[in-house]
Amino acid sequence: MIGKIRQKLIELHQPAPKEAVEMICPICDRPIPDSQKDAHHLIPKSKGGKTTEYLHRICHKQIHALFTETELAQQYHHAQILREHPEMGKFIQWVKNKPNAFYEKTRKSTRLK
Ligand SMILES: [Zn+2]
Ligand SMILES: [Zn+2]
Repeated sequence: MIGKIRQKLIELHQPAPKEAVEMICPICDRPIPDSQKDAHHLIPKSKGGKTTEYLHRICHKQIHALFTETELAQQYHHAQILREHPEMGKFIQWVKNKPNAFYEKTRKSTRLK
C-alpha cells in the first residue's frame, strides 16, 4: 500500500509535458495567443500562393488594409519587406505597447479608397 502511494508521488513530480513553443509574430515580434492566431498567405491565394505564416489577427488585418493583393504578390511577399514599409512601421510601433491579445477593428487605409 505504502509502495503504491510513493509511486504516485514520484509520478506527480515528473515534469509536465513541454508546452507548445510560443509562436512569435514575424510582423511585430510579440508572442501570438491562440485566440489571435491568423494565417496569412505570403502570396495571396488568388495569385496561387500556398505558403502561410501565422500573424496576430490585428497585424494580418493591417497588412490587408494597406496593400492590395497585387502589391502583396509582387512586392510584399515577405514579413521583413512588410515591416520596412513606413505605414507598417508606424503600426508596429503602435501595436507594440498593446497587450498580446489586443484586437480592434482596423480602419481601411486612405490609400485604397
Ligand atoms: Zn493575409
Ligand atoms: Zn503581430
